[in-house]
Amino acid sequence: MATTVDLDWKNLSFGYLKTDYNIRSYFRNGAWTTPEMTSDETVNLHMAATGLHYGQEAFEGLKAFRGVDGQVRIFRADENGKRLASSAEYLRMAVPPLELFIDMVKQVVKANERFIPPYGTGASLYIRPVLFGSGPQVGVKPADEYLLIIFVTPVGPYYKEGFNPIRVIIDRDHDRAAPLGTGHIKAGGNYGASLISSEEAHDKGYPSVLYLDAKEKKHIDECGAANFFGIRDGRYITPKSHSVLPSITNMSLMTLAADLGLKVESRPVEAEELSTFSEAGACGTAAVISPIGSIYDPETNHTYTYNNGEPGEWSKKLYHKLRAIQYGEEPDTHGWNLVLE
Ligand SMILES: *Cc1c(COP(=O)(O)O)cnc(C)c1O
Repeated sequence: MATTVDLDWKNLSFGYLKTDYNIRSYFRNGAWTTPEMTSDETVNLHMAATGLHYGQEAFEGLKAFRGVDGQVRIFRADENGKRLASSAEYLRMAVPPLELFIDMVKQVVKANERFIPPYGTGASLYIRPVLFGSGPQVGVKPADEYLLIIFVTPVGPYYKEGFNPIRVIIDRDHDRAAPLGTGHIKAGGNYGASLISSEEAHDKGYPSVLYLDAKEKKHIDECGAANFFGIRDGRYITPKSHSVLPSITNMSLMTLAADLGLKVESRPVEAEELSTFSEAGACGTAAVISPIGSIYDPETNHTYTYNNGEPGEWSKKLYHKLRAIQYGEEPDTHGWNLVLE
């Protein structure tokens, strides 16, 4: 095992920190090139690349953890590979085969082993695959060339002072994704379109926004760049919609919720149901679960408060269960972890 670098793991932020290597494969002349490891942090790109002009770009986010037994576990990388393929298909990009994706993820994590945070620090290694059209095109059509890069960066524990509930504001002035648009894929364009919303919410003192469906503003869509869930009467309830990104964390929480005896409902969820939940949360790779303390609706001037603004029992239980699997503290009964050889 490589000697770990000396970093203040517990205080790392969710930011970019240079590591030793990133890995790249090009799609050229109809085939993917053998993945190449490089220390170059820059990309030499054609100025007419479709990734720059026409948004032919998608990304992924996943994590590797150093477990209680010293082994390195990458969480559900196959699901990220499948989701990247679906994003690529929709944006008419070359589709990276799952085997190529998994091979690149494993190689880049291994090459940067000294940046995988030690067990017990709460930190992890964030893995960021990005795929874009690198070939030139002036007419609006797909590129002939694509580049898949995977880089990694160590990130600190999301919760430095315990499991902190967030304040959320409903945004009726902007939509993240159109009803039949790109909400179901991890396209960078969705993020560009959501920055105004999150910046405005921050300025008002809210770390996150709740989006309603773009068409009727009747159903709950997503909570910032995270899926939403509510708990009520022994049920885990989460919105299902074409404009909601299929979160791998949410998929896992639904399985664990069922394991723990909750009834799982994945269906359209009306905004009116906000008043009925005993707990609410946002979920995604970065935090696993961000408990929602309250949701403010500027239209009605009403604030929905959950569990007196404290993290609820089910949210805590689900969070700890998923964490324990990722760190190898509990058996991985669903076969989610890819253990690095
Ligand atoms: C990435 C993302 C999520 C979370 O997905 P995970 O696979 O759980 O990390 C949720 N919503 C949006 C819009 C996202 O882009």
